[in-house]
Amino acid sequence: MAEYDTVLIRYGELTTKGKNRKDFIRKLDRNIRAMLKEYEQLEYRRTYDRFYIRLNGADPEGVKHKLEKVFGISSFSFTERVDSDIDVITNRCLELAKASGMHTFKMITRRHDKTFPMKSDAINRHVAGAILEHSDLKVDVHNPELELRVEVHAGDTYLMSEKIPGAGGYPSGINGKVLLLLSGGIDSPVAAYELMKRGLDVEAVHFASPPYTSENAKQKVLDLASMMSEYNQGRMRVHMVNFTDLQLAIYKAAGDPYAVTLMRRMMVRLAQQIAKDNGCLALGTGESLGQVASQTLESIACINAVISIPVLRPLICMDKVEIIDLARKIGTYETSILPYEDCCTIFDPKNPVTRPTDAKAASFESRFDYDTMIQEALQNAETVVVHPPVVEDYL
Ligand code: ATP
Ligand code: MG
Repeated sequence: MAEYDTVLIRYGELTTKGKNRKDFIRKLDRNIRAMLKEYEQLEYRRTYDRFYIRLNGADPEGVKHKLEKVFGISSFSFTERVDSDIDVITNRCLELAKASGMHTFKMITRRHDKTFPMKSDAINRHVAGAILEHSDLKVDVHNPELELRVEVHAGDTYLMSEKIPGAGGYPSGINGKVLLLLSGGIDSPVAAYELMKRGLDVEAVHFASPPYTSENAKQKVLDLASMMSEYNQGRMRVHMVNFTDLQLAIYKAAGDPYAVTLMRRMMVRLAQQIAKDNGCLALGTGESLGQVASQTLESIACINAVISIPVLRPLICMDKVEIIDLARKIGTYETSILPYEDCCTIFDPKNPVTRPTDAKAASFESRFDYDTMIQEALQNAETVVVHPPVVEDYL
């Protein structure tokens, strides 16, 4: 069998980013190392358009599982390094083809070192010829069982058969910081994932209303943040805000059906201040248009009216099924559906208004001194830093 001792990492999309390219690569390098830090034996090397990691005995499945979570990687392969010599390449490819147990194959060669004396096509023909002559494998260019990839660089050539899709996107943190409103539901962790994929460093804020919301509900939010922190350079700051007094005041002032609108307006006011205090240039939410009463266009406008900071809503046009699929893929779904009430579930009025207006909301708000309450809530907010859960079995 092949001795796949090196991982070759491609970050194609980034190479087109011109002068920012250096920053991108440096950040990606750092994020890859942070993701793999438990594997102390790894050796890293960087060339113009590739990263290489020598495994030195590290478990390839574990490394693969981690690399699949690093944004900015377009694809990667487990490879074997050989000398850039056509006879060495041909012999080793033949051995790999024979050992594969497959019946059909296709050669895919890329010649990065343009001084190598044979062109890609010539290498393909030469190696394929040897395999056809000395084994039972047949060529199938459309649907081969085995794809033998050869990448020729100066001095080193990498042989591989599998190209594993990376997570795509931009390295986490390259595009600045955003403050995500994180509830315990299905949507906001998925929103976190999408924001991180765009290269944003995500901080979170959660509003809890004890004793109406339980310790379990709070722990669930921290568990979700902890899962998401793996995509976020291995840590996430979570601001926990006690929302009880504000929520009770809102119900007293507005009652049903404006309560949800007012609650959301208070949440974004608080979040805007926390964002400013922590260098976040935008808020993020898991809102999806039309999903619930507070997510109509009128509601979104009415909530937005009280803040000036941009709000990023990566799920705004996604269907619930698409969101659930993503939640399953990133591993948050099972935790999100645990039945712990969040503050909105408990106070959820029966007939929330679907077309609230700013004027009406403001007139309810004028009935109590929310500014002082907001300042109090901010003063009592706690900031927790979470890290990825320790998972023994990654399969
Ligand atoms: P989710 O599944 O993320 O809870 P949802 O479908 O339940 O979303 P809403 O409850 O209307 O929708 O919440 C919309 C968005 O408001 C959430 O995605 C989240 O960004 C924010 N949000 C709601 N409740 C809270 C909370 N208690 N703390 C922080 N953010 C919240
Ligand atoms: Mg919710």
